[in-house]
Amino acid sequence: MPKGKGKLSMIILIENGYLISNAPPQADGDVVTAQSDQSKVSDLQLLAGHHYLRGTLAHDNRPRQPITGEFCDLTSELDPVADLIFINIACSHFHTQDYINELVEADRKGGKFICTGTFLNPGSWDAALLAAGTTLSAMQYILDGCGKIAYALVRPPGHHAQPTQADGYCFLNNAGLAVQLGLNSRFKKVSVIDIDVHYGNGTAEGFYCSDRVLTISLHMNHGSWGPSHPQKGSIDELGEGDGFGYNLNIPLPNGTGDRGYAYAMAKLVVPSVEKFERDMIVLVVGQDSSAFDPNGRQCLTMEGYRKIGRKVREMADKYCDGCILIVQEGGYHVTYSAYCLHATLEGVLNNPDPLVSDPIAYYPEDEAFTTEVVESIKRYQMDKVPFLK
Ligand SMILES: [Zn+2]
Repeated sequence: MPKGKGKLSMIILIENGYLISNAPPQADGDVVTAQSDQSKVSDLQLLAGHHYLRGTLAHDNRPRQPITGEFCDLTSELDPVADLIFINIACSHFHTQDYINELVEADRKGGKFICTGTFLNPGSWDAALLAAGTTLSAMQYILDGCGKIAYALVRPPGHHAQPTQADGYCFLNNAGLAVQLGLNSRFKKVSVIDIDVHYGNGTAEGFYCSDRVLTISLHMNHGSWGPSHPQKGSIDELGEGDGFGYNLNIPLPNGTGDRGYAYAMAKLVVPSVEKFERDMIVLVVGQDSSAFDPNGRQCLTMEGYRKIGRKVREMADKYCDGCILIVQEGGYHVTYSAYCLHATLEGVLNNPDPLVSDPIAYYPEDEAFTTEVVESIKRYQMDKVPFLK
């Protein structure tokens, strides 16, 4: 079983292409190649928050009482690791030191309402550190040459977190921190492609004045949502100074769907990534762009996600030696999100045929058959229900 150099890791078992279970790490420092009896998925390295479930449970977006019992036990055992991650985050300089200090202080005091929808609850800070640490580990994994594709399955998300502002459930910008780590190491330029349904305003803000990071965000045209999210995500937010032109916003109408996303990728994303001399691609994924997500109306299906994944892989293979870091963001339809994630990874892995069919894909209307059924029910009711006779 191959091992890498990630500081945090866990095993996610893939059997026949399904994400079926997660388990605690075998030992600190292990990165375990996804297991499968299908070699098609064996070249993906999965690094999940230490771990995703723990982070999700420990951090809750809603205002609430301190977490007790089991969760406290879980988070307390993470302290040494959290310290290590903290140092890495502080050294990254994506976030200002004052901002990080504010979060530390808020955590020390038992939590804080930061902005609408974003509460630092007991457990949130540890979870945020673990999510960031996992993403940094995933980037380091690629930097160390252990593999070319890594996926950080993390929660809480990060792409709304700006250098000095938490927003939209995000405290630390996981992808932004990882990009900065890449820039501080051997990468000269990085392209970020964000397909979460919401604007990746935090990542954009962090690199707004930089010509070393091309941030591209395809999102629902939701605009600003308050003081914590002043950016509109509109096409005229292009970056500033040296960074002018290196933030490309692609606000898409509700109902854009698979073909619309494919068109936007072909016409807007691919040409710009092609012209930007990038060393690697960071794919920021959110399954809240799916057809059934309660937070979005972009109507992507598994096939749409699969095509995006495939296109990103194609670009990575062509322009940056196949290096892709995938970072998890939102996705709120619990069941369908998993299927869409699966399809995205299949696309990134260039699987020729889907290993899983879409359980709720578009099903064509069959009016003729329905008419027959209705008529049959009508005949039955007329025969059996006295008052209808
Ligand atoms: Zn989102």
